[in-house]
Amino acid sequence: MDETHIPAILAEADHWRSRDLASVWHPCTQMREHPDTLPLLPIARGEGAWLIGHDGRRYLDAVSSWWTNIHGHAEPRIAAAIARQAGTLEHVMLAGFTHAPAVELAERLLAIAPRQAGRAPLAKVFYADNGSAGVEVALKMAFHWFVNAGQPRRRKFIALHNGYHGETIGALSVGDIPLYRRVYAPLLCEALFAPSPDAWLASEGQSPAAQSEAAADALARMLDEHAGEVCALILEPRLQCAGGMRMHDPVYLKRVRELCDVHGVLLIADEIATGFGRTGTMFACESAPGGGIQPDLLCLSKGLTGGALPLAAVLATQHIYDGFLDDRRERAFLHSHSYTGNPLACAAALASLAIFDSDAVLQRNRERARRMGELAAAIAPHRHVADTRQSGMVVAFELTRDGAKQAPFPATSRVGLRAYREALQRGVVLRPLGDVLYWMPPYCIDDGALEQLAEVTAEVIDIATTEEASACA
Ligand SMILES: *Cc1c(COP(=O)(O)O)cnc(C)c1O
Repeated sequence: MDETHIPAILAEADHWRSRDLASVWHPCTQMREHPDTLPLLPIARGEGAWLIGHDGRRYLDAVSSWWTNIHGHAEPRIAAAIARQAGTLEHVMLAGFTHAPAVELAERLLAIAPRQAGRAPLAKVFYADNGSAGVEVALKMAFHWFVNAGQPRRRKFIALHNGYHGETIGALSVGDIPLYRRVYAPLLCEALFAPSPDAWLASEGQSPAAQSEAAADALARMLDEHAGEVCALILEPRLQCAGGMRMHDPVYLKRVRELCDVHGVLLIADEIATGFGRTGTMFACESAPGGGIQPDLLCLSKGLTGGALPLAAVLATQHIYDGFLDDRRERAFLHSHSYTGNPLACAAALASLAIFDSDAVLQRNRERARRMGELAAAIAPHRHVADTRQSGMVVAFELTRDGAKQAPFPATSRVGLRAYREALQRGVVLRPLGDVLYWMPPYCIDDGALEQLAEVTAEVIDIATTEEASACA
């Protein structure tokens, strides 16, 4: 960098920061913490796995901008597809009208959706415009389907402890992260929470599979107890992301599918974060034993457009779709959003799916994931790392006071936040979930960037935990 330009560049970053703080209210942020406790970084552009700040510095986007980005920032093929579509048809309402991108994307999604031998495939796509809205669609659809079927008593949802499905009132109702949920509890609808199959919760000597089986047994008891009252069960297959990148044995999915069938309960798979290759297979449902399971409703968003534009899709079986066909209008699924099936977003999604084929992304990810595993293994023995876990293109490090599960850092210590700040200073975005640091990079990340990520992670774990451990003493 030309040294003489540094003051001008810094002034530009300050300029955007102060204008921002005068007018923008940020998501998931205590605004009081900006900019002193929590840095606010004006970003000028993106390039592959990197974000480039108005301060001229490069930041490795190790969390894929909230798990949305899969092929890198400003991906030229996705950008071109959006530009082409914008010059042709930017939007038309999807009621009474249709367009090629919505049709082609629906066909593509149904073609790649999880399949299970002996089940009728997912057959219809309902669009929404963000993940939470997609979850609302699935919840309302499940309940309404039973109303149409003459079973209005089935109005409860089962969700899992530590699960996350979004921030709107319905999605929060089936979420179990106290930080997001607690204050709104009086507004939420009733849901039942079943124990999580989370392998981290396994007792001493219990295998992840045994932990999954135990959680499934508890779910079976809950379903018995509430027979005839439950319309749907919603879960994040294999990986509870917002809940701290907690992972479970795939046998749980097989058990859940069987239990839902026995009890006539619809299974909603929320693959908003896990979909599109994140955990190794195109969808996490595919990894269940016996060739994978198929949900009755599948929610997709985040990586759907490669991270370029908001869009959600809810895939449903023909059986569910048919339950809404009637002469009476009120039996139809009348849910709508203005931007349902937006052509720009659909075009971005088609371009993203084409990249999976042209770049053999899933195959390339196996090599990427192997390298991530090697690099993580070198960090795992750290005295404050209680658990290192991986699921495909996700690696998480659980930090505790003395490396034992039972000794979390006090919530007030904010070890994760310290690590985040230190990592930013070293050019890496490692936004934590509490005291869990994780890697969830764009799939295009190269070896050099992965090595830098590992080096910075080791360094900031050291700094953040040493400071805190001495403060505790
Ligand atoms: C992010 C997320 C959502 C919500 O999606 P938004 O687009 O942020 O509303 C729902 N479910 C899961 C599993 C998610 O990770």
